[in-house]
Amino acid sequence: MPPIPEPQLDDLYRELILDHYRSPRNRRALDDPKVVGEGYNPLCGDEIEVHVRLEGDVVSDIGFTGRGCSISQASGSMMTEALKGKSLDDVRSLIAAFTRMMTDPGYTPPAELGDLEALQGVAKYPVRVKCATLAWHALEEGLNQRGDK
Ligand code: ZN
Repeated sequence: MPPIPEPQLDDLYRELILDHYRSPRNRRALDDPKVVGEGYNPLCGDEIEVHVRLEGDVVSDIGFTGRGCSISQASGSMMTEALKGKSLDDVRSLIAAFTRMMTDPGYTPPAELGDLEALQGVAKYPVRVKCATLAWHALEEGLNQRGDK
């Protein structure tokens, strides 16, 4: 299998991604999570498990565990920062916005995605898009299994 290309990103964005990779935020399993989502990216070997606790309709805590490339783990870290305190409706629309950002280079992401904008440059590398979206698809899968619409 040929090696996966390393994305050439702006220095600022690369630094942001490496910072989240080296010092991931919310990297922990939660006790008694209401939502558990798992993802595996065989192209790169990335693994992610996302845990969510809810208070009513609001994400009161969110954490992730896993291992893999810097993009997959940084995306998980940034995702937990962006989604903590959000309602499930907001979570759904941010999942959609992030997924669109990774497939539509002309798309302007909403401000709530914050640091995640750093990952938009990865959209030019289709094989890496799966790394960036892994945590998001894992979360979406977990929400779907829970029966949320
Ligand atoms: Zn990866």
